[in-house]
Amino acid sequence: MPFLFDSHTHLQFSAFDKDRDEVIKRTLENDIWLTNVGSQKDTSKNAVELANKYPEGVYAAVGLHPIHTNSVYLDPQEIDGENGFNSRSEDFDYEFYKNLALNEKVVAIGECGLDYYRIENNELEIKNKQREIFINHIKLADELKKPLMIHCRQAFPDLISVLTTSSQLLNFTPGIIHFFTGTIDDAKELLEMGFYFTFGGLITYNRQFDEIIKFIPLEKILLETDAPYVAPEPYRGRRNEPTYIKETAQKMAELKNASLEEISGQITQNAFKIFGIRK
Ligand SMILES: [Zn+2]
Repeated sequence: MPFLFDSHTHLQFSAFDKDRDEVIKRTLENDIWLTNVGSQKDTSKNAVELANKYPEGVYAAVGLHPIHTNSVYLDPQEIDGENGFNSRSEDFDYEFYKNLALNEKVVAIGECGLDYYRIENNELEIKNKQREIFINHIKLADELKKPLMIHCRQAFPDLISVLTTSSQLLNFTPGIIHFFTGTIDDAKELLEMGFYFTFGGLITYNRQFDEIIKFIPLEKILLETDAPYVAPEPYRGRRNEPTYIKETAQKMAELKNASLEEISGQITQNAFKIFGIRK
């Protein structure tokens, strides 16, 4: 098994266009494996193609991020372009994502979920559309028996209600809540359903997550970089990359009162388990 696993990263995004292969090489040389997560059609397809380029250590997740289900400002680090621009919304093309997800390197469905941050108008319409598309991801995950990679921002009560309603579809290992920002009560409900939780670079400098990290059992915790975003200390403000995950693992070890080796061993084992990777 590798030393560490970056369970949620985006090396297929345009922020890595100039040196993508070097970054991946450096990651694998540091004995770190990773899952590149798609956010819409192009970035999902590119994640799968990238995974297929490497015999081992690079996996993919495919899905439609809730912020892309309605017209939104797009980050220039994600898609080609000097400046950000407003995207047209994408409808969830079930067959497109299913075809991608049939690839054996695809280890999760997402990122999908609910994001209520900065919804300005048409609130009900936007929320309903996000919910409908999220339910379609749940159906796809159930059909292919692959775990969900969930993005949830300021929407945990609705997320838990959708998951509870769909729980008959989720009687396999349900998936991962990517960078969990909910409450202890939210965590309790999601743990009961069998979810795993990732934490990223933010935990190295924001003490707001200490309590929840101490609460969630280590067997249910994963680490992520979410690169190119949110680099950990001492790299804050720079483009993030998977090798920086060691800083986050070190902080996790402190919070869990364990050695870096114990933490990384357990976290890698957790990633293999949820992603169904055999070694
Ligand atoms: Zn992400």
